[in-house]
Amino acid sequence: MEQNIIVNNQYIGRFAPSPTGRLHIGSLLCAVGSFLDARANNGKWLVRIEDLDPPREEIGATDDILRTLHAFALHWDGEVVYQSKRHHLYREALDYLLEKGEVYPCFCSRKTIKENGIIGIDGMVYNGNCRKQSNFQSAGKNPAYRLYVDADEISFNDSIIGCYKQNIKNEVGDFILLRADGLWAYQLAVVVDDAMQKVNHIVRGQDLLVSTPRQIYLAKRLHYPAIQYAHLPLLTNRQGQKWSKQTLAPHLDLNHKEDLLRQVLIYLGLPQPIPADSCENILRWAVANWNIKQVPVNSIISEN
Ligand SMILES: [Zn+2]
Repeated sequence: MEQNIIVNNQYIGRFAPSPTGRLHIGSLLCAVGSFLDARANNGKWLVRIEDLDPPREEIGATDDILRTLHAFALHWDGEVVYQSKRHHLYREALDYLLEKGEVYPCFCSRKTIKENGIIGIDGMVYNGNCRKQSNFQSAGKNPAYRLYVDADEISFNDSIIGCYKQNIKNEVGDFILLRADGLWAYQLAVVVDDAMQKVNHIVRGQDLLVSTPRQIYLAKRLHYPAIQYAHLPLLTNRQGQKWSKQTLAPHLDLNHKEDLLRQVLIYLGLPQPIPADSCENILRWAVANWNIKQVPVNSIISEN
């Protein structure tokens, strides 16, 4: 399944952090990369806060993220969108798919799935057990809802990585859209929001590359337009682990924000020398010098 990109639209890009902690050098790279690609294409750059999993969130993180973006002169267009206020949109999409017979309830426990599944590209591949039991109701138990996955290979042309292919039937299987605990799955919320916000270019980290075929497949089921993707290299510590809250990524030191910004631009393949100036002016220079084809594919060790 190859997708065609609609070229007449105005470019609309976005940065969509989860408020699980402050921005670090890796998330700054994603913010800057998506910002530059949007601005270099005379596009809009939106910010969406992905706050669908309250137990994982940190109080004050959203404010901190937005303040940090402003400090780096990464000014966004329009209002910030919060996923926590958009449950009705996810519900509408799920109801549409239910009506079309594209999803089914799954009553399997985590244990059953682990015992009967095989390990895939992103966790266990569900064996489709509840496909055959669509009328089955387990008393008092809320089901998860899964999407029927009947496509074999999904491929797309990434602006940085090139052609990426994944057999989602064998490597992922029928995936969850609504969890049994009532939380919306990341895959559904992202696809619905990007379509509702008319996002047509997504520039984000390579940690999400494995999710992209699922999102393309789901968007097709919902008849949403295709999106052009670009996946940025990951920044890692010396052990090769991606910088994140879990790997104790250092906080961004805003007293040295111009140095941090210049560092990120070098990681993104901008030509050197990068001017010593304010963040505003450095970004203006970077927009004029941006070339997505210069962004490296491989992970980068970052000391910050
Ligand atoms: Zn099941």
